[in-house]
Amino acid sequence: MKTIGMIGGMSWESSLEYYRIINEKIKGKLGKLHSAKSILYSVDFEEIEVLQHSGRWDELSALMVKAAQSLERAGAELIIICTNTMHRMADQVQDSTAIPLLHIADAAAEAIQKKNLQKVGLLGTRFTMEQDFYKGRLKEKHGLDVIIPPEEDRETVHRVIYEELCLGKTEEASRKEYIRIINNMVKEGAEGVVLGCTEIPLLIRQSDISVPVFDTTRIHAEYAVMESLRN
Ligand code: GLU
Repeated sequence: MKTIGMIGGMSWESSLEYYRIINEKIKGKLGKLHSAKSILYSVDFEEIEVLQHSGRWDELSALMVKAAQSLERAGAELIIICTNTMHRMADQVQDSTAIPLLHIADAAAEAIQKKNLQKVGLLGTRFTMEQDFYKGRLKEKHGLDVIIPPEEDRETVHRVIYEELCLGKTEEASRKEYIRIINNMVKEGAEGVVLGCTEIPLLIRQSDISVPVFDTTRIHAEYAVMESLRN
């Protein structure tokens, strides 16, 4: 079993889920008292959020590179960044270490393609929905069609992530808003929806939605486990 290095704390609410899912999956695969070999590098999310919202992406890249290199020195054999948004600097992180970075969008694309879907809706932070690092990878590397909600709905999705979910709050009114926004994307032809923010699965479940839902927290965590068990 390889040691999984996790860059987490973005937010810690979702890092908890990663830790639980990774250990449950290892236990499911290996049985007995097996648990995952892992190292968590957890950041202060307030510092991250301030830099994100002031567009200081170079400083954020430097922080992620430092985290990855620390994990490598500590003995990690593969790395996951436990957030979709911070894959904006995935290439810089990968270039700075000798160990593989398992990209969350690649894990999501594999799950979408297993279900033979072509067109998906994407929910996440504004950065993930609007910039190209995530949609672009799904489109260009994996050949998928990706749609996002209109401006006003993107604002709602973004606000709920930072003002509620990352603070551990799940509000019924927000769940209803998310369901409405997802259903509109389904009307526009989305055959599935990517929960492209690692806190959204705390709010939205498969049972809320008529089309397949791709929980990137679970998908990424399980992808890391499969990689850690590969010979
Ligand atoms: N965890 C979220 C994501 O998956 C948002 C927090 C962040 O900005 O990193 O994008």
